[in-house]
Amino acid sequence: MKKYNPIKSYTGLLIRIDDISENMNWKLMKRCEKLFNRYDIKPLLGVIPNNKDKEFEKYEKKENFWGQVRAWQDHGWEISMHGFNHVYDNETNKEDFFGYGGRSEFFGHTFEHQNNKIQQGLKIFKNEGINIRSFFAPNHTYDKNTFEALKKNQIYNIIDGYGLMPYKKFGMIFIPQLFYKEIFMPFGIQCTQIHLNFWKDEDFELFQKFIKENEKRLITLDEVLGKTNNNVFYKILNFFTEKTIKFLRYFR
Ligand SMILES: [Zn+2]
Repeated sequence: MKKYNPIKSYTGLLIRIDDISENMNWKLMKRCEKLFNRYDIKPLLGVIPNNKDKEFEKYEKKENFWGQVRAWQDHGWEISMHGFNHVYDNETNKEDFFGYGGRSEFFGHTFEHQNNKIQQGLKIFKNEGINIRSFFAPNHTYDKNTFEALKKNQIYNIIDGYGLMPYKKFGMIFIPQLFYKEIFMPFGIQCTQIHLNFWKDEDFELFQKFIKENEKRLITLDEVLGKTNNNVFYKILNFFTEKTIKFLRYFR
């Protein structure tokens, strides 16, 4: 009989790739694609529905971008909504929901403004035949209106947050994103954040090595959601993780 191993059951990493838009580092994306297919990994791609971020203009532009997004979706990859236009037009002064600080596309705007952006973004995805059930904001910056607007549009999964485990708050599920590098926690379910636009070839080599070593622990969004739990234990666990991380960040 197979022994139940709770640590193993609650360990996993979802590969989240950020800043997917017409203009991006397509050369590295191609290499990632091959890598994922080799190990049968289904990542989550944060697609910007209406990219207006000038930073990305220097990267190669893909013709038939949406055809490519559909092909990924057909391949079982998860497409997530990463903001609307990726333009930061507000300062958070560290008052954003996670207290990260920095500039924001959503934070500080009215509910109507945020709702409008989310609706427009979802409309683009719908017209392109892309199913969306999750969201993460550019620069991790949200306020309560962001969550209310997402819920109004039936989006309940946020690929961001503090903690060791996915958790529920405001009637939504948060999948924590803890580190900037692909470091594996010995316990817990989190996601990465990967910015191919900032990567050099060496970063890809390291990532390739990481995938090889951790192949068995990489999981899909469906698997993450299946494991989502909200009993007292996880509430306490997440509470302490949040405190610890805020504490560590304070001394950085
Ligand atoms: Zn981004």
